[in-house]
Amino acid sequence: MITTSFDYARATSLDDAIARLGAAGGSAKLLAGGHSLVPLMKLRLSEPSLLIDIARIPGLSGVREKDGKIEIGSGTTHQAVATSALLLDKCPALAETAATIGDPQVRNRGTVGGSLAHADPAADYPAILLALDAEIHIKGKGGWRAVKASDFFQAMFTVDLQPDEIIAGVQLKPQRAAAYAKLHQRASHFAIVGVGAALEISGGTVTSARVGLTGASTHGMRLANVEAALAGKPLSDATLAAAAAVAGDGLDDLNSDIHASAEYRRQMVKVFTARALKAAAARA
Ligand SMILES: Cc1cc2nc3c(=O)[nH]c(=O)nc-3n(C[C@H](O)[C@H](O)[C@H](O)COP(=O)(O)OP(=O)(O)OC[C@H]3O[C@@H](n4cnc5c(N)ncnc54)[C@H](O)[C@@H]3O)c2cc1C
Repeated sequence: MITTSFDYARATSLDDAIARLGAAGGSAKLLAGGHSLVPLMKLRLSEPSLLIDIARIPGLSGVREKDGKIEIGSGTTHQAVATSALLLDKCPALAETAATIGDPQVRNRGTVGGSLAHADPAADYPAILLALDAEIHIKGKGGWRAVKASDFFQAMFTVDLQPDEIIAGVQLKPQRAAAYAKLHQRASHFAIVGVGAALEISGGTVTSARVGLTGASTHGMRLANVEAALAGKPLSDATLAAAAAVAGDGLDDLNSDIHASAEYRRQMVKVFTARALKAAAARA
């Protein structure tokens, strides 16, 4: 199918894009890489009257260090995340996650902001950003706000973002002891189950752990029972195995589709939690 007709404008700054969104009164959409939006428009599931292209806003893409944290502009492509020397050195799990997204064409066009705003339940970033305790930085006509990843992903295709707001970027602390493991769909590489894990270790003890899940349910979420099973325990194979064994317990809304049944996903949540924890521990 082809899209309904729409106007096109290229935003020159965040404020220009926000003003255009406001003026359109809810009928405009931001266009980043177009890899999620354009297919929806072709299916006429989305019929914006105006596309506001944010791909060339100066400074909206790039990975940089700021005040001891790592800042990733929302316009940064998955490929730029995957190959960022800064991330590969200080937060390799995020670069590795981006490298697993789709295929080279998707990675070269798709952006961090587009993926977060679209919030596909099978997207990869939610799991690792939850594990890394990232903050999403958002700008709207009322100014700036920052939302923790754990508050951002709320339901299927639903995040804490208003129609007249723009994701400007993501901030996180450098963390090496983290990893992402996923069971992917063979064609698209979307996650059937994806698990991100980050561990803080001191004197051989896991002082804290964060574990994020994607693909298995409606939206990205932390696995609090796995985190509780790790905190305060000695870092050992037995500790990691015991924590992975409870992954997915208590989740009653697991997805069931042509790729995997809910029961299969439940087993894979345990398997891929074990893999992510083991890989994160190997970096501790
Ligand atoms: C064949 C294929 C395979 C894929 N495989 C994977 C995969 O394995 N893993 C995975 O995670 N993803 C996968 N994707 C999705 C891909 O990562 C998309 O790039 C991503 O979901 C959307 O990013 P985009 O920049 O293309 O956004 P767009 O399509 O341009 O926009 C998506 C939505 O976000 C909004 N938006 C865009 N930027 C912003 C912003 N800065 N602030 C607020 N709203 C914004 C748009 O208005 C739109 O509603 C795949 C896509 C395709 C087509």
